[in-house]
Amino acid sequence: MPRLRLNRILLKLSGEVLMGPGQFGIDPETVARVAQEIAGVARDHELCIVVGGGNIFRGLSAAAKGFTDRATADYMGMLATVMNALAVQNALESIGVDTRVQSAIPMDTVCEPFIRRRAQRHMERGRVVIFAAGVGSPYFTTDSGAALRAAEMKCDALLKGTSVDGVYDADPKKVPTAKRFDEISFSRVLSDDLRVMDASAIALCRDNDIPIVVFNIREQGNLARVLAGEGVATIVS
Ligand code: UDP
Repeated sequence: MPRLRLNRILLKLSGEVLMGPGQFGIDPETVARVAQEIAGVARDHELCIVVGGGNIFRGLSAAAKGFTDRATADYMGMLATVMNALAVQNALESIGVDTRVQSAIPMDTVCEPFIRRRAQRHMERGRVVIFAAGVGSPYFTTDSGAALRAAEMKCDALLKGTSVDGVYDADPKKVPTAKRFDEISFSRVLSDDLRVMDASAIALCRDNDIPIVVFNIREQGNLARVLAGEGVATIVS
């Protein structure tokens, strides 16, 4: 993949990358491994993280299964992201990485509220800031939260750590001949409806000129390789 000059980065972690071999919840061993990946790059970059909650609760699918009030289901989803943020914080701090959690839904006894300028100071001081609760409003996702925070925090790129190694022209798990892109434009992702992130997140990154790097965070050492321009990934720009 081409090398990008990345000093300040936002890492989006989907809830599913924290759940390990199971189909649900938080697996401590898996979280510890992800934390090792992050610790390996935290010294050389200003780093913030947005965590998802899909390993615990997703508003849209809960609404489809009978939670009649979508907004309530979404708030439950946002609370799930706070649990994940605390798990990631705990794993990072236990290996010596200084962190702060900031939630878009204030909960002062658990973590800091989201305050942009304070988050900036944390990052300048070498702390990893973990953003929880997405944008703090229902009908959004943590992908949109990641794009928003990446813009607010003036990040050089949004790194989306998933369980696939980039963007394909079809689902590689279903179509064996699916082709992976090294690079692809925002407009192609939107026009071909390629499922990288949701459309509002893509549009926000496009409008603010923030490249998205999609890579497999389950593979050991991959985050560091991608940041060095050596890993397998797709750059959306
Ligand atoms: N959510 C929300 N507003 C936000 C972010 C998240 O309502 O700004 C809710 C939504 O219900 C979503 C859930 O939180 O399904 C978990 O987030 P997401 O699905 O983005 O997690 P991921 O897929 O990244 O694990």
